[in-house]
Amino acid sequence: METTLRGVGVSHGVAIGEVRHMGTAVLEPPAKQIPAQDAEREQGRARKAVEAVAADLMARGNLAGGEAQAVLEAQAMIAQDPELMADVDRRVAVGSTAERGIYDAFSHYRELLAGAGEYMAGRVADLDDVRNRIVARLLGVPMPGVPDSDEPYVLIARDLAPADTALLDPALVLGFVTEEGGPTSHSAILARALGVPAVVALPGAGELAEGTVVAVDGSTGEIFVEPSAEKRAELEAAAAARKAALAASTGPGATSDGHKVPLLANVGGPADVPAAVEAGAEGVGLFRTEFLFLDDSTKAPTEEKQVEAYRQVLEAFPEGRVVVRVLDAGADKPLDFLTPTDEPNPALGVRGLRSLLDHPEVLRTQLTALAKAAEGLPVYLEVMAPMVADRADAKAFADACREAGLRAKFGAMVEIPSAALRARSILQEVEFLSLGTNDLAQYTFAADRQVGAVSRLQDPWQPALLDLVALSAESAKAEGKSCGVCGEAASDPLLACVLTGLGVTSLSMGAASIPYVRATLAKYTLAQCERAAAAARAADSAEEARKAAQAVLSGE
Ligand code: PEP
Ligand code: MG
Repeated sequence: METTLRGVGVSHGVAIGEVRHMGTAVLEPPAKQIPAQDAEREQGRARKAVEAVAADLMARGNLAGGEAQAVLEAQAMIAQDPELMADVDRRVAVGSTAERGIYDAFSHYRELLAGAGEYMAGRVADLDDVRNRIVARLLGVPMPGVPDSDEPYVLIARDLAPADTALLDPALVLGFVTEEGGPTSHSAILARALGVPAVVALPGAGELAEGTVVAVDGSTGEIFVEPSAEKRAELEAAAAARKAALAASTGPGATSDGHKVPLLANVGGPADVPAAVEAGAEGVGLFRTEFLFLDDSTKAPTEEKQVEAYRQVLEAFPEGRVVVRVLDAGADKPLDFLTPTDEPNPALGVRGLRSLLDHPEVLRTQLTALAKAAEGLPVYLEVMAPMVADRADAKAFADACREAGLRAKFGAMVEIPSAALRARSILQEVEFLSLGTNDLAQYTFAADRQVGAVSRLQDPWQPALLDLVALSAESAKAEGKSCGVCGEAASDPLLACVLTGLGVTSLSMGAASIPYVRATLAKYTLAQCERAAAAARAADSAEEARKAAQAVLSGE
């Protein structure tokens, strides 16, 4: 029977497909003793699980081909290593369960590898993956990490970290549902980047059985479990009608009376560029460079590797604007070589620009790589720092940019309330502001953006957040400088009109949202947007602010 669940819709569109769960980390199996007469049975279980995992790895290798096949075949060989299996048998013979025997034998082998030189140590992650797969099979729990599936699916996860994203195959993920996370969590941002429908903050999602068919409506936040044929047809027709209406709206972003608001794309690297170009982005308003750093969290990518990645993005917008944000590590995006591990409260600790000022060599390499990447290109490069708290931060960043010989505009992100309150002082050091409304909401409301339970406070319609946006935009205007929004607030079409009315000069968002924002903005005059903004600021809650703006814009 069809049932309906409700979370927070964070990425438009409808996805219909079978549910696959993101496997959680495999826990250490309990060290319980088994009676001697069970040993043979447990050894058999262990062997069968190893064979099944090896066969599965080989089969996936065959399908993948190329380099991936070689890696998967090597993993299958690790699984079947005779010495490792003999060690498992020995451990089970003296009282371990199959899963515990596997776990301990692999751990022992892991230590040997880790101490056997750099190349062997590099294989430790492969060994762990094989161990986790065998243990998961023995425990009857989903395989850890991204689901093994050759068919497209709707991904269900507790939450998704940026590091998970590298492993997702966009061709297979129809949509997302997460139990945790708010509208500004990285799951939501990732869903928008992939252009797939998504719903977050749905605590019951983890209980949906693997393989259940669901329809996810990323606009309303509804999940229809086992939807009827009529419901499917209704949702598909509505999605198709909306797509057709969007395709009809093209060109630069502007209100109906021609007030220009450039619509820019948020990208994580060259892979996101084609979707941005296709959506008609007028440039990049936020290049989240930390995604280049996530492949190897033990060291920064080389200058050459960075030049290559930056150049690919810059070349895609020859005459356009590209705003590159320097590395924003820490808190929910930790990097081993930069992020302190002993902080009680990482979101309030050394992250963003603070990390870079503690590690000037990392900032210098990044800025030098950017300068080299932009050489000879007509692109209009802007570089900005995350988590700027005050004028001293802004000055330190601008000085570093000048020292690296960077020919670009330098800017500061407004993500901390102090930066909005003292925007005019910060603008004495830099040439533009960009509002990171995700973090600005987190710090204004003391509401962790990763925690679903406080997603109400993460709502960018909160009038207090709108006040800080207005203050920043007014300060920039008074200084004759620009103030854009690159947080997720910009991707909500109605809110985009309100932000325009507050005086924001550009809007940057995941490429998939651009057509929605463009079409909505084109329906209203600047004066209407200003009236909607005033009405929203006069409200006492996010919900009322949304309704008030809606009422003004629909002429009620
Ligand atoms: C923000 O905080 O609004 C922002 C754009 O940065 P990120 O989401 O990457 O922290
Ligand atoms: Mg931020």
